Amino acid sequence: MSHHLNAAIENGRRAWDIPTAVLFSLVTVAALIGVPLFGYVYGYTRLDWTMSGILYLISGLGITVGYHRMASHRSFRCPDWVKAALLVAGGWALENSALKWGTDHARHHARVDQKEDPYNATKGFWYSHCGWLFTKDPHKTERFAPWLREDRVVMWQHRWYIPIVLSGLALPFVVGLSAGGVGDGLSCFLLAGVGRVFLVLNSTFCINSICHLWGRQPYGQANTSRDSWWVSLITLGEGYHNYHHTFQRDYRNGPLWYNFDPSKWLIYGLSRLGLAEGLVRFDSGDRAR
Ligand SMILES: [Zn+2]
Ligand SMILES: [Zn+2]
Repeated sequence: MSHHLNAAIENGRRAWDIPTAVLFSLVTVAALIGVPLFGYVYGYTRLDWTMSGILYLISGLGITVGYHRMASHRSFRCPDWVKAALLVAGGWALENSALKWGTDHARHHARVDQKEDPYNATKGFWYSHCGWLFTKDPHKTERFAPWLREDRVVMWQHRWYIPIVLSGLALPFVVGLSAGGVGDGLSCFLLAGVGRVFLVLNSTFCINSICHLWGRQPYGQANTSRDSWWVSLITLGEGYHNYHHTFQRDYRNGPLWYNFDPSKWLIYGLSRLGLAEGLVRFDSGDRAR
């Protein structure tokens, strides 16, 4: 660690992460101003909306099932090609490689609510939602998830992360282009590329912000994690965050049959098809409520 960084920590200041801040700001401005403005002037087609929905589900499940439950928590095992497909889908959410994402996430669980927690919710809503992205984190370490670097599919995804991101942005453009012309390509790219990435990013952020600030704590009050069923509706099942922090390796975040957890349904479905095995579950969790 450099002297400069040490001094910055002691002073409570952190160095800006310029590339991340610029990229995130560009996506936000384009999604909040460019996407609605284009829609107001030219309108979006049914194909644009359909592609947005499909890519929201694919990239969202790539994060929840691939990055989160498979890579970060090892809550099930699957063949390399299934793993690769899940990590490509997760890469389309523009949330960094699974290696970086899982490294941060393991530290979040190990040091939740402490100064090493990358999205420490005790620093307030905006910090835990997206403010943490804007500065360099001096506490970065890979020691909480050493298995990530030993996983050849995770490392393959890390190496190819930029082309994977570009393929996810090119896909809606190509679909729109082949349905009409360059204008249709642009409109599909704006809604199903830029708009959809912004929504998936923020749905992920809600777990770190809302699910550490508001909701019930049926499984324990050892940390700020909370269960919020309505956050599960937009995050594909990850709103049951108090259960998740209590039984973090469980492949389910919502353990009860009526919990809305499409991510656990996908993992269970894969296991029925013989494409996932070793699903971790803590049955004591079912009785805790
Ligand atoms: Zn959490
Ligand atoms: Zn987790």
